[in-house]
Amino acid sequence: MTATMKAWAVVENGAHLEEIDLPMPEPKGTEVLLEVTHCGVCHSDLHLWDGYYDLGSAGRYNIIQRGISLPLALGHEIVGRVEKLGPEATGVKPGDLRIVYPWIGCGECARCRAEQDNLCPKQRSLGIYQNGGFATHVIAAHPRHLIDPGDLDPAVGATYACSGITVFSAVKKLMPIAPDAPIVLIGAGGLGLSAIGVLKALGHRTIVSVDVSAEKRQAAERAGATATVDGKAERLDKAIIAACNGQPEAIIDLVNGSGTARAAFAALAKGGKLIMVGLFGGELKLPLPFMPTRALTIEGSFVGTPGDLRELVALGQGGKLPPMPIETIPSHDADTALHRLKNGKVTGRLVLVTDSV
Ligand SMILES: [Zn+2]
Ligand SMILES: [Zn+2]
Repeated sequence: MTATMKAWAVVENGAHLEEIDLPMPEPKGTEVLLEVTHCGVCHSDLHLWDGYYDLGSAGRYNIIQRGISLPLALGHEIVGRVEKLGPEATGVKPGDLRIVYPWIGCGECARCRAEQDNLCPKQRSLGIYQNGGFATHVIAAHPRHLIDPGDLDPAVGATYACSGITVFSAVKKLMPIAPDAPIVLIGAGGLGLSAIGVLKALGHRTIVSVDVSAEKRQAAERAGATATVDGKAERLDKAIIAACNGQPEAIIDLVNGSGTARAAFAALAKGGKLIMVGLFGGELKLPLPFMPTRALTIEGSFVGTPGDLRELVALGQGGKLPPMPIETIPSHDADTALHRLKNGKVTGRLVLVTDSV
């Protein structure tokens, strides 16, 4: 009898996840087989489950046409225990607990060799292009994608692989910046609150948080924002400038819709930087002469690199980053977890945990 693993997989887009048996993968070359212990449930799992992203006026972005095939085990915020090493894999041993970097590419191009796997044109991300963590087992392509969580709670460490490095990588793009120069964070949901935690851990002192929800603005203040701005302000750019006591040099737009991007662009000081992270959607019309005359930078940021994950884990050691609120749920309830996230009935992060943990 051949060995099998279980996956709670998307068999049909939008339909309930099904528990299926798959052949146990055999690690080849540098690959490492891990037994999954934890896997966070992310909003992008919902889009993959549905099979499309909504692009507003530009229509739908169909994921199936992008080379994603079913059945697929979702889940890209994975922590697992090393079970078996491929013949060329070194640096870990069976039993080691590791966070799995999921944003992998071909492994051979210049980007991959420079550890910018997330920018490889041939994405093979776990839980997207190949089976991820909604399963009993997962294959990591290379030991360099495995990061020791140290003293982090593994459920929290799992979330570092997506939401954590998304925020950290965006923050790094603004550095270095004087600790008292205002950094504006548009959006005070999960990513916005994590960004406040990361900035404080890095010693930054002036953080301005923007959100349409009064409740979220209060949460941002509790997390350490020095000022907040109502995202519904009629002239959001002016409200941001007022809260910063002048035009800010640094803005991270975690919403990135037409309205927030327009306000952020208008608010920026000369030489300022706008980092676009959110996937809300829409478009931005740029008055082109301002780009050179105000020497502005607009930069997109997509997840992060294995190096970002290592740095973030190091930053989080000893409890230096406030953990996001986590609720654990058994792996075999992955379908329930997705439905709860879809229905907005989740505060913080849902993390699947295997029965054996
Ligand atoms: Zn994610
Ligand atoms: Zn590559």
